[in-house]
This record gives sequence, structure tokens and C-alpha cells, in this order.
Amino acid sequence: MTYVINDACIGVQEKECVEVCPVDCIYDVGEMLLIHPEECIDCGACETACPVQAITHERDVYPEGAPFIAINAAIAESPEKARAALGEWRTAAAS
Ligand code: SF4
Ligand code: SF4
Repeated sequence: MTYVINDACIGVQEKECVEVCPVDCIYDVGEMLLIHPEECIDCGACETACPVQAITHERDVYPEGAPFIAINAAIAESPEKARAALGEWRTAAAS
């Protein structure tokens, strides 16, 4: 279990979460930021730092945000995989 960033982050330019993360496991993929699930130490610092409540623990992800568990996990493979997963979510959300 780890922390997850959801779509509330999309388009937000400030990066308060990055500034407080003690292990530098939050990655910018362009549209938004994502948490590497294997590097995150579950400290919770980013959750309280985010001004738009875009970060929750995986166990607290709301149903509509469930795809973001996999989108965040994809950053463990590569930024390209993560961007592709984000694109698939956008296509599904628009249909
Ligand atoms: S929970 Fe802690 S370690 Fe994990 S992404 Fe947030 S600040 Fe970084
Ligand atoms: S603080 Fe929140 S909105 Fe800002 S970059 Fe981090 S997750 Fe996104």
C-alpha cells in the first residue's frame, strides 16, 4: 500500500508535494505528478502539503479515482508507460 495522486493534480503547477517528500519519489510526467509505489515510504507528508487534496493513501482512494492506483504504479516502469496509462484513462473518461 502506498500513496496515490489523482486527477485533481492535472494542470496544477505548484509542487508542494515534491518539496516535502523525504525520498524524492514524486515524478513529474508533464500533465501531473505521480508517486513511485516502491520508493514511497508512506510518511504521509505529501498528503497534507497538497493544496487541492490530490493525494490520498491507496486505501482511501475514492471509486472514481481507482484508475490512478495503476497510473501511479506505471511510473515504476517508465514515464512513457505512465503517460500512456494517463492517456488511456482520459480516453475512457471522455467516452
Ligand atoms: S507519502 Fe511520503 S514518501 Fe510517499 S510520496 Fe508522500 S512524501 Fe513521499
Ligand atoms: S501538491 Fe498536489 S496539486 Fe501540487 S503537484 Fe503535488 S499532487 Fe499535484
